[in-house]
Amino acid sequence: MDAISRINEELTKLAEDYRRSIQTIPYDEEHLNFLNRILKKNRCLQRSFTELLEKLISERINMLPKYEYSTKTNEGKEEACCTVCLNDFHLNEIIRKLPCNHDFHVDCIDKWLKSHHNCPNCRGCALDGH
Ligand SMILES: [Zn+2]
Ligand SMILES: [Zn+2]
Repeated sequence: MDAISRINEELTKLAEDYRRSIQTIPYDEEHLNFLNRILKKNRCLQRSFTELLEKLISERINMLPKYEYSTKTNEGKEEACCTVCLNDFHLNEIIRKLPCNHDFHVDCIDKWLKSHHNCPNCRGCALDGH
């Protein structure tokens, strides 16, 4: 096995560990920073890892519940606007619900979560496995 395949295998293992950890324990920014420091010296390795991580994060984002906005689903709730784009929710728009119970347009929050990993309203961890 050549060096590149070995690195890829290691990365896959690392990514698997990471995938398991973000599903079972709260999203760990410190762990991620640690990995990034290790990977800093090798750009090629860092790129592969970043790609893998982005994939894992979008998988994690896709696991968050979403629903179609209607007057029924919003019953009894005060906030009916998305604090990312500051627009009100409209009928039939797809809304994503974060673990902290804050709601956003799917497109708005998915874009936000790719770089922030927390709720724009309360800063609660959005990629928490619980
Ligand atoms: Zn929005
Ligand atoms: Zn929140």
